[in-house]
Amino acid sequence: MKLEDVKNVGVVGFGVMGSGIVQVFAQSGYNVIVRDINDEALKKGLSVVEKNLGRQVEKGKISEEQKKEILSRVKCTTALEDLKDVDFVVEAVVELEDVKKEVFTVLDKVTRSDVILSSNTSSISITKIAAWTSRPEKVVGMHFMNPVPVMKLVEVIRGLQTSEETLDLVVKLSEKLDKVPIVVNDSPGFVSNRVLMPMINEAIWTLYEGVASPEAIDGIMKLGMNHPMGPLALADLIGLDTCLYILNVLYEGFGDPKYRPCPLLIKMVDAGYLGRKTGKGFYEYK
Ligand code: NAD
Repeated sequence: MKLEDVKNVGVVGFGVMGSGIVQVFAQSGYNVIVRDINDEALKKGLSVVEKNLGRQVEKGKISEEQKKEILSRVKCTTALEDLKDVDFVVEAVVELEDVKKEVFTVLDKVTRSDVILSSNTSSISITKIAAWTSRPEKVVGMHFMNPVPVMKLVEVIRGLQTSEETLDLVVKLSEKLDKVPIVVNDSPGFVSNRVLMPMINEAIWTLYEGVASPEAIDGIMKLGMNHPMGPLALADLIGLDTCLYILNVLYEGFGDPKYRPCPLLIKMVDAGYLGRKTGKGFYEYK
């Protein structure tokens, strides 16, 4: 498969990441067919894309006409079988292994055998996902960052069996989306979360041990290290449950105590303080 042959793209999952992924593909001229499990989820995903494009119209970045044209390239479905004619797939369903396994098993059956199946997973091994299919050389990680339309990076993950042709196409495709692809090998947490999560965890340990307040910890990292956001505020944005989940992936994946999640993080997740999405994490959100 060559880059020029990719015209129709299938996206599976129309949540936070799926809606951004659908938008960037449609905005780059691709026809997109997106699958989620029910009409409500599809409606919600589409409204996010519409709202984002509407904001671009307000800012004068695109015209109303262009917005309509972009939206006309997006088709929604609840049937995974409707992805039978796509040339490329990005999977962005919930981060649950059983759900992803079911999705990849079906995708492997319904799509053409030359189609690359990529996953936006944050923590599941690409090598493992590839082994669920009959085309492991065509399975690859395409890890977009949130918010997808804004963030430049695509962390491209090479599974043990991913071919050079597959990597080459995903790199070119990412560039076509006006992103910057960086290729890494499959390993727990890849590079992004392996470096980010221990920093967040260490910030939580620092708070737990009473070394400083959340404001002081975040202030030091913002003003002293030029981070746009402090690690505790970032943890609230990502979701404390997601942070704990990824830390456990690192902890179990490497069997190394340096990734041990801070007890304060576990306690906060147990209490339902998950960050912005619940209105309370290390900070309060109204
Ligand atoms: P989300 O919960 O916002 O969206 C997931 C969507 O998947 C939901 O709309 C859900 O209805 C749908 N879904 C569930 N089962 C499905 C199925 N069988 N077929 C089709 N759709 C199904 O989650 P998200 O934050 O968009 O995360 C999606 C993926 O992206 C995960 O693998 C996550 O690890 C990864 N990711 C998330 C972020 C982030 O910051 N949120 C960043 C990078 C990667």
